[in-house]
Amino acid sequence: MSAKVDEDACTGCGACAEVCPADAITVDDVAKVDSELCTDCGACTDECPVEAISLEE
Ligand code: SF4
Ligand code: SF4
Repeated sequence: MSAKVDEDACTGCGACAEVCPADAITVDDVAKVDSELCTDCGACTDECPVEAISLEE
């Protein structure tokens, strides 16, 4: 499991990357999560203004 980005909804604002304690998110046009680094902490999902990032089962 790791955080997953809805690439259609993501605006590339970078808010999730700023709060990720594991530095698992990089943002180019849209955010991308490195599933090897993600700890499923949920910090990014709380921060996203458009709910484009979520924890998948
Ligand atoms: S769930 Fe936590 S570790 Fe994973 S990408 Fe989001 S902020 Fe980073
Ligand atoms: S906070 Fe949301 S909209 Fe902003 S880069 Fe992250 S996933 Fe995309």
